[in-house]
Amino acid sequence: MAQLVKQPAKFSIVAHLCRSLEETSRRNEKIRLISEVLRKISPEDVSYVTLFLAGKPFPEADPRVLEISYATLSAAGKTLNQALLSGNEDSLTIAEVFATLEKLAEVKGAGSKEKRLALLSSLINRTTPLETEYLSRMLLGEMRIGVVEGVLLDAIAEASGVSRQLVRRAHMLHGDIGDVARLAITEGAAALEKVGLRLFVPVKPMLAEMAEDIPQVLAEHKEGSAFEYKFDGARIQIHRKSDQVRIFSRRLTDVTDSIPEMVDYAKTKVKASEFLIEGEVVALGEGGKPVPFQDLMRRFRRVHGIEEMVERIPLRLYLFDVLQSEGKTLIDLQYTERWDILSSLVPPDSLAPRIVTRDSEFVDDFLQAALKEGHEGLMAKSLTSDYSPGARGKKWFKIKPADRLDVVIVAADWGSGRRVGWLSNYHLAVRDDDTGEYLVVGKTFKGLTDAEFDMITKRLQELKIRETKWTVHVKPEIVVEVAHNEVQKSSRYKSGFALRFARIAKFRDDKTPEEADTIQRLRKLYEKQFENKGRLLTEVL
Ligand code: AMP
Repeated sequence: MAQLVKQPAKFSIVAHLCRSLEETSRRNEKIRLISEVLRKISPEDVSYVTLFLAGKPFPEADPRVLEISYATLSAAGKTLNQALLSGNEDSLTIAEVFATLEKLAEVKGAGSKEKRLALLSSLINRTTPLETEYLSRMLLGEMRIGVVEGVLLDAIAEASGVSRQLVRRAHMLHGDIGDVARLAITEGAAALEKVGLRLFVPVKPMLAEMAEDIPQVLAEHKEGSAFEYKFDGARIQIHRKSDQVRIFSRRLTDVTDSIPEMVDYAKTKVKASEFLIEGEVVALGEGGKPVPFQDLMRRFRRVHGIEEMVERIPLRLYLFDVLQSEGKTLIDLQYTERWDILSSLVPPDSLAPRIVTRDSEFVDDFLQAALKEGHEGLMAKSLTSDYSPGARGKKWFKIKPADRLDVVIVAADWGSGRRVGWLSNYHLAVRDDDTGEYLVVGKTFKGLTDAEFDMITKRLQELKIRETKWTVHVKPEIVVEVAHNEVQKSSRYKSGFALRFARIAKFRDDKTPEEADTIQRLRKLYEKQFENKGRLLTEVL
């Protein structure tokens, strides 16, 4: 009997799905809606729809970017005679939409602005208003349909019958959620089990939870912990096979060309010809002390004059993990085993300083030593833990002294007086882990230099999604670390909280908005304050 070949699906299916997803806040309902669609479309469309719902035109590990601004999109919209008017409603297929996105990413050089506009207009001309709505949101990176990655992964599991755990693992290793969905649905568990680490495809780094104090770490890590210096640098993963070396940042960007001395290191200092090792680079200043993070980032942004930068801002590498060596994926091994392999591969002075102890006084001395040497604190790693890509959990804890939060700028007000002409009052938000929504927890104009005001005004305008007379609302993209005195309850914001005396300490270009702090963590921090403080007898807002 002939197999039923699924026809290319219409883009309207995606638009209607997005609308239904936006209309329900129930997680299980969202999973059901998505899996129903994934089951009935062709394998190629499964990949596209999954990517679309994740708000991405291309897979995460794909270096291509679209960078469509609000201005370009509204210019394309002006040329409209929407499909409804021309009577060809529902003619556009999902594959056609993605083919155009690929063409858009290829446009380069002279006249590219016009070419992009033409491509975009021709696409929007064929979409219905509902389709335009969700296509625009996807292009601006602002889906707002309440589908977080976890929901999408669970929907893939539901549609394919493969376990959630296996789907999650494959996704972490593979770097393309669309392809994972396709594999799961067409080939099932057997295909996902075969997904391993792939050299030159960046791996999402394992993350740490903030520890309340040292005793908490000792209590959680019953099998013991290693305490390593926590560096205030930039995390890198170095991939090598024979003569080929590629280095990726924490945000999975390829930074190979900006740090040639690390490429040399990988080729000459590591005793293996095929590996994936991970560590932190720190920029050294006077007296060999680490320089502020912002100065280090100048090395990474650099495109020209790299040789000069190599001399002006020397880097030091501290390695702390190995994920693959001589073809073997090592992420399921325990921390101690991975550390032993790493130590056998690299010179001892490139390893992160560390101690293994259960004595909290020793840990405290080690913490003070780290701070004195200009580092940020300590990382505590469970001796028996595996490497869980992309996961933040208690297997790794970070121990940092100050009250700092990583928040996302979601809007900014035009300044007045000395700050006129600058977007200078920033609306700071944390993420809701359950819905993916960004919730404002305060505003600040403190902490920036004039040059930074200038730079950020330009960046924010590129990220604009709408504006009112005084305020520009932007795509949540810029992550900043804010110092604050206290987390307060507040009825002013929907989040229910406000940060007291917030000021921007630094830009965290190495972090994605998904990695910012969450409302869930803020709630915990709020509660924790009462361990040392008294509560009011009645809550006064
Ligand atoms: P945070 O940026 O505060 O979420 O802390 C996690 C980051 O600390 C990682 O992404 C690394 O860039 C950095 N880091 C510094 N030292 C270490 C270390 N010894 N092990 C793991 N991560 C480290």
